[in-house]
Amino acid sequence: MSSIAIMGGTFDPIHYGHLVAAEQVRHEFQCEQVLFIPASIPPHKDKRLISPVVHRLAMTQMAVVTNDYFTVSTLEIDRSGPSYTIDTVKAVKEKYNPDNLYFITGADAVLEIISWKNVEQLLSACNFVAATRPGYDISNLQHKLDGLPGEHLRKIISIYIPALAISSTDIRRRVHKGEPIKYLLPEPVEHYIKKNNLYKEV
Ligand code: NAP
Repeated sequence: MSSIAIMGGTFDPIHYGHLVAAEQVRHEFQCEQVLFIPASIPPHKDKRLISPVVHRLAMTQMAVVTNDYFTVSTLEIDRSGPSYTIDTVKAVKEKYNPDNLYFITGADAVLEIISWKNVEQLLSACNFVAATRPGYDISNLQHKLDGLPGEHLRKIISIYIPALAISSTDIRRRVHKGEPIKYLLPEPVEHYIKKNNLYKEV
């Protein structure tokens, strides 16, 4: 049985919470590989508020090099238009043909899944792992997903990741205010943010 996980996110910037979540899922579901796929234009976001993809990609690549199971895929970046998860899942299935596929992302993003493109097809095609952070009210997720049929509901797994006390929003805010970000993300990513003057304006 082969299992692959996709780590989907904006990664603006990637931090230790993301890396811990990916490693935990890899271990729990015995995945041979975790593909980090930075979203090029997240479907629901105003692209002017997000750092250019070249920076988000570079930081993601730097962050995963120390884990042999982790790779970065430019699949969504290479595709033109919005990053719909259904298209990503189809492309990964076609390329790797895994027996099991897991799409990991934040619980807040999964909360909105009902409004995503082709949700039923998506939940038939792969499992979703909703990573929750400290303080997250899981009943939000359960309540919002109530409308889904049982066979689809079973495809959504939530996983509590204490390291997700770290958030990209907080890191951007810290840089903007001149507060430290050391130990919240890999050192090469910290240096990259400084060198490229990211997040000075928020
Ligand atoms: P987001 O709104 O930036 O993030 C929502 C929450 O989830 C934030 O708290 C975020 O924390 C957390 N999060 C995001 N990615 C995570 C990850 N991989 N692991 C753990 N926590 C994570 O969400 P987004 O990044 O734009 O979207 C997440 C994924 O869902 C992307 O792959 C996107 O393409 C997909 N998506 C698809 C559709 C669609 O197909 N219609 C619609 C929306 C989203 P941090 O800020 O700390 O990361």
